Parts: sequence; C-alpha cells; structure tokens
Amino acid sequence: MNVIGKVTVLPQLPEAIARLSELAYNLYWTWTPHAQDLYSTLDAANWERFQHNPVRTLLEADQARLNEVAADPEYLAKYKQVMADFDAYMNKKDTWAAKNAPEMKPVAYFSMEYAYHESLPIYSGGLGVLAGDHCKSASDLGIPFTAVGMLFHQGYFRQLFDKDGWQNEAYDDLDLTTLPIKPALNAAGEEVKVKVRIGSRDVVSRVWTLQVGRIRVLLLDTNVPENSEEDRKLTARLYGGNQELRVQQYILLGVAGIRALRALNVPATVYHMNEGHAALMALERIREVVETGVDFRTALETTASSTLFTTHTPVAAGNDAFTYELMDKYMGNWPAMLSTSRDELYGLARHDQFWDNHWVPSFSMTVFALHVSRAANGVSELHGEVSREMWNFLYEGAAPEEVAIGHITNGAHNLTFTSQAMRDLLSTVLPTDWIERLEDEEMWKAVEQLSEAQLGDVQREMKREMVQFVRGRQREQMLRNGASAADVAFTDTLLSEDVLTIGFARRFATYKRATLLFRDKARLSRIVNDPERPVQFVFAGKAHPADNPGKAFIQEIYKVSQEPEFRGKIVILENYDMNVARHLVQGVDIWLNNPRRPLEASGTSGMKASFNGSPNFSVLDGWWREGYDDTNGWPIGEEREYADLNVQDDADSFSLYSTLEGQIVPRYYGKGTGDASWAHTVRRSIQTVSPRFSMQRQVIDYTRQYYIPLAVRGESVAAANSVKARQIAEWKTWVRQQWPHTQISAQANLPTTAKPGETVTVTANVNPAGIKPEDLKVEAILKRGEHQTVVPLQYQDGNVFSAQIPLNDSGLYSVGVRMLPHIDGLSNDLEAGLIKWA
Ligand SMILES: *Cc1c(COP(=O)(O)O)cnc(C)c1O
Repeated sequence: MNVIGKVTVLPQLPEAIARLSELAYNLYWTWTPHAQDLYSTLDAANWERFQHNPVRTLLEADQARLNEVAADPEYLAKYKQVMADFDAYMNKKDTWAAKNAPEMKPVAYFSMEYAYHESLPIYSGGLGVLAGDHCKSASDLGIPFTAVGMLFHQGYFRQLFDKDGWQNEAYDDLDLTTLPIKPALNAAGEEVKVKVRIGSRDVVSRVWTLQVGRIRVLLLDTNVPENSEEDRKLTARLYGGNQELRVQQYILLGVAGIRALRALNVPATVYHMNEGHAALMALERIREVVETGVDFRTALETTASSTLFTTHTPVAAGNDAFTYELMDKYMGNWPAMLSTSRDELYGLARHDQFWDNHWVPSFSMTVFALHVSRAANGVSELHGEVSREMWNFLYEGAAPEEVAIGHITNGAHNLTFTSQAMRDLLSTVLPTDWIERLEDEEMWKAVEQLSEAQLGDVQREMKREMVQFVRGRQREQMLRNGASAADVAFTDTLLSEDVLTIGFARRFATYKRATLLFRDKARLSRIVNDPERPVQFVFAGKAHPADNPGKAFIQEIYKVSQEPEFRGKIVILENYDMNVARHLVQGVDIWLNNPRRPLEASGTSGMKASFNGSPNFSVLDGWWREGYDDTNGWPIGEEREYADLNVQDDADSFSLYSTLEGQIVPRYYGKGTGDASWAHTVRRSIQTVSPRFSMQRQVIDYTRQYYIPLAVRGESVAAANSVKARQIAEWKTWVRQQWPHTQISAQANLPTTAKPGETVTVTANVNPAGIKPEDLKVEAILKRGEHQTVVPLQYQDGNVFSAQIPLNDSGLYSVGVRMLPHIDGLSNDLEAGLIKWA
C-alpha cells in the first residue's frame, strides 16, 4: 500500500484502571514484575513484540480487552495492590536519606548512556547499566538527585547474526511517542529547548524527562526542525561515527546538559561526571562563574571543588583523546568565552599521543576530568590502584599510592535483576522491609534457612524459562537466515534443563576473552559430553560495530556451536540486552567471567547472577577479587599479571578446565551434604554478594564519601563570591611562578648500620624563593621494601627544616627528602602538581 498518512486511535482507559498510564510513565515498573504483569495481561503477544514496553502496549491495546480487565475482579485486585505499593514507594517519608543524610544537597549525575530497560535502548553495556542502576537506587534511598544524558533515537544497535555467525548491525528509529518520556516543561509550562554553539553552528536540543521512581532524568535530543539534517543526527547513535562526532556529542552532553538543568531550574550542588565523556560540563559551569565577573582560575577552583569524577575503565578505547586541531574546530570559541587562553584551557587536558610516528599534543577527556574535579575514584579496589598508576605521570615526583584517585566498588540494582520467584522465596526468610535495607549484611544471613529443595525448585523453574527463551530466540534467527526445516526443528531440543549450565554474556571487547574456553577444544568436548555429568554453555554479547576482532570472537563461538560435538550444548544468542541479561542471570547455574586481568574495572553481571543464586566462576579481577571468599564461588587463575599474554591465556584456561572438572562439576552433580553441598555454595553466593554488591551499598558509599563532603567543600569555596576559590587560585598562580626558582638540599646522618629504634636526624636547606615557609611541606620519605613512610620535617629557622626519625623496624631503608607547596583548603597535597626532591 502507498501510505498517505497515519493516525493512532487512542484507546480510552476505563476509570477503574485509569492509572495504568501514569504507572507506564514511571520506570518503577522496570524493577517491579507485578507491575509489568498488569500490561502483559492486556496483550501477551504485543507485550513481547514491543520489548515489554507498557506505554506502547497501552497505546495499542484493544478497547474491548481494556473494558474486560477493568471488570475482572482478579485483575482489579492486582491493580490495586500494585498501585498501593507504588504510592507507598513514591510517598515514603522516612527514606534512608531522610534518616541518615537530612542535610544532603542535590546531586547532578552525568553519563553518556543509561540502561533502565530493553525498551529504551540508549545504552551499550556495563557503564549504562551502572548509571541506570545508580539512578534507581538514588530513588530507593530518597536522595535528591537528577541525571542527565542523551536520547539516542537509533540507540546503540540491534545485533543480528548472519548464517555464518557474523555480526550485522541494524539501526531502528525509535518512535518517541511510544517511549515513557515527556517533554520537559519550565515553570511557565513551556517545552524547554537549549542552544549550544558547536564550531560555527548553533545546535538546538530538545529536553525530555524520564521519571525513575522519585528521581528525574533529563535526556537531550537534537532531532528537531531548527537543526540542519547533519545536526539532527548528533544524537542518533551512541558510540557511532568518528572522533568528530564524539567531540560534538561530548560538548552537547556537558554544555547542553548544564543548560538544561538551568532552564528547568533544577537545583544541583554536587556534580558527578561519569567517564571523560561528561567532562565538558566543566566548560559551562566555569563560564557561568566567569560571567559574574570572576577570573578563569578562580572560576575553575569554584566549580571543581564541587565536582566528582568517576573513571570506569583502564582500557584505551574508554579514555578518548582528540587532537588540538579537532578541538579548535568545535571548541575554538571557548577560551575566549572563559577569559583564558587556548594554551591554558587545553593544558588542563594535555596528554600527548603517539600518532603517525610522532608525538602529538592531545586533549584527553580523562586528564581534563581529573583537572576540573577535586575528587576522583575508580570502580573497584584493584581498579583504583590501576588508575593511580595509570595517571601517576600527571603528578611528577609522586608515588602512585599518593595520586588522589580513590575507589568505590560497583554494585547492581538487586530488584532489577532478581527473578520474582527468587524474590518471593527470599521474602519467606528475610524481614518484611528487606528491600529497603539490601546493604545490610547481617540481615542476609537468614538465607541460611532456605532449604536445598526450596532453592532447587526456584532455580529449576528459572532455568526452564531460560531454556524456552533461548530456543525461541534461536528459532527466530534460523527462520530469518533461511535455515532448513530440520535445523529449525532442532532448536526445540537445544539445551537441557537437567544439565549444569554456564552463562557468559557481556560486551565482546577483546580483553574480555570470550573465546578463552575454546583454547583446548578436546578437553572442553570431554567436559561438555561427559555421559554422567554433562555441562552446557550459553553465550551472548555485542561487539562494537568497528571492532572486527570482537566480531571474529562471536563468529568463532558461533562456528564451534555448529560443530557436531557441541551442537545444542553450546549456544550463542544474538542481541544481548537487558532482557537477555535477565533471562541468563536468572536461569544459569554458574556465571563465567574471564577477562584479562587487570582490565575489568569492576564487572557487574556476575553480581546479578549471584542475586539469583548462581555462583561466580571468574578471574580475580574487578569486583570478584573482593567478592570471592572461598565458599561462594570459584576463582580462575591467580592474583597476578603476566608479561606474555599467551602465557596468561594458557594459565587461565588451564585453571578454568581444572576447576570445572575437579570442583564445580562434582559438586553440582554430587550428593554432598552440609558445607560440601551445591545448596551451600548457592546460599553463600546469595548472602555474601547481595548486600556487599548491592547498588544501594554503592550509592550510600558515594553519598558518604563524596556527595556530602563535596557539597560542604564546594559551598565553602564558592561562598561570598568565591573568596576562598580566589585565594587558592592566586596562591597556585604564585607558587607555580616561583617554583622554578626554589631549591632544596638535604642531609641525613646515616650510620652504615643501626639498631631497631635508633633515630637519625634528617635536615633540609630550602630556598623558598618568595613562597612562605609555612606554605611548604618538607618531608622525609623512608622506603623499606614495599613500605613507604612520610615524616614531616619541622621548620626551624633560616630556611632549615629537620626531624629526628626513629628507624623502628629492621631492614634496608632508603631515605629521600622532598618539598611541596601546600595551603589549607586544598583537596589534596598534589593539587598544585608541584613536588621537588632534594
Ligand atoms: C550487567 C550488564 C552488562 C555489564 O556486564 P559486565 O559483567 O560488567 O560485563 C552489560 N550489558 C548488559 C545488558 C547488562 O545487563
């Protein structure tokens, strides 16, 4: 047909179920299966076809069906219960924040991607899920919080395998009228649009709001008539295009993001940058302060003091850097707008890159983020350590452990990923308010009371659902690729509910080593095809469209899955998304993760599996290095890195096979009791991982360690027209000028050998070159093996500093002396970036 126009006839919601529409527009339903049931009951086929989207399911609901359920007492009872729970959630007064952080100031959270649900595909992977979950827990805890992101109207991409297992990408245009978003309105009730200059164009963004429980998310969208065709595509795809597109998207996220907050009068005291992607928000915040007549450096101090930067990956692809020329093209107007020079502005981001055989000064988003914030963190203990080493070069003369990057280990939003069956089971032993204190480790001990039979029933039910899901998906794929009738029919026999099932699903970035399992296929075949105790595997994951090595991994797994000895026992599913993730983490028996240590900053999918009683079997990297306790799962390989990657892969795969054969398979199929039983591992996995790796624990940590202190510090530095910021800025300018003229020499009266407890005198002679002696920290550094102690030297007079230092332990000490400039009010000693060693 030649379509000449379209019209939707909107169904009328009967009075008795009128609030289904309101509920559809609050993502509360994404972690509330009972709420989802209200929509799936209307039309189960549409519900599946529309990716479980309540707004669309309602829009296309049959009027007669609506009338029917509105008269069905059973449906109405469920509806009333869901609405009562929803109201109680939304109106709760005694939230965690009200009780524990009543003075807390509002937080603005920026991320390039958010994963809330499969029907809103504006995410690629872990970063998005983390950001989405962070919002959900901020809502649960009652924290004053607003998130800012982008509405990608073609999302990331939909993944399709061709008949040879090669990944193809499909880009579908989202129909915005079917999404749970609404135009953001200002106080006067008008739709808000914000304008940003990018290069020589003014780009307009529309702003959408998304309600996630109690909190709001603002999503930017350039697909508006005011913009050129090119500019309308700026928010088409996440992580698509080239470097040129990236820079422009980062300007949008940062600058238009801040303007959207202002246009809507959203209060924000603390600003949380996630990944370098969000760092350009600093430009706009500095500009706002400069506009009030304050100089650039003062404005930088003012804004940085209330900014937290979280780095989420040590992998190069996650830490973009752009040439200065590229920045000039799109950001050339910013130095003047900020009353500063290009050199000074770009200097805050400089990280030279080796491109085309020479060093090129480049604008690194991560370096910029570190310099425009006054608190920074990684996302696991090991990742904190790796990040301090990675960015140590920015603080010349400092040891890695002194770099001011801390860590908060990631978590996941328990309810989003826990099956309703497991929730119901947990409710039988946990206190009635358990979902409000997920982080309470003591509370989770009650999981001990769950019997093997209870756990087994729930897990079998979830596995059955997962197997059905996998078969259905494989069937669709076969039909699409024109497979033979026999091959299509074969999908009905894929996987068995009685077999130990191992899941592996994540982005197919090569460092995640998706094909490690296949290093010794003969051995794998023996494991998979054991007649008494077989094992089966389910894989899923997307490779970035430009990542051919990642796509080759997918194809390799696909090909193995077609070989006779593995067919039906190893499966790779297409289009890994939140929906596939939920099915897998709820349905498999074991969750496998074998990244190349230490590149997995945290990882979160394994947490979701453990919430559902699936123990982890993983490399001791990221969160699992902290989570593994000898009873709740299994490690792969050792806690070390290898110089030769091949050797590392060999060692890790060897460990993988041995543990599987020697420990996991026997335990799963064995009849062990007590501590030797499978149920014991399952219980330990649930009770140890659920609280410690709950998103609730994570957001509480951010609140206590960063949000509250940054609000206090930010307000004091900005107070009275930035008095303190100006002091700090002027002081830094002065000490940086003077620093080249300072000198330090030192002496220590060290005997050749000494007894424990003996003291030595260390003396330094300093030429402070105009810097006040009290603004200098002069320190002796004592290194003994891996231990380093810092002992301050006291100011004597005549520019002499000294101290008597006891050598308490036996061993070889190396002694050094250094000085650094310091005043009160700095976030840390390295802030000025100046250290001079004697
Ligand atoms: C949890 C999740 C991820 C992140 O998993 P990792 O273990 O961090 O790799 C990625 N994608 C989806 C859809 C998820 O649900």
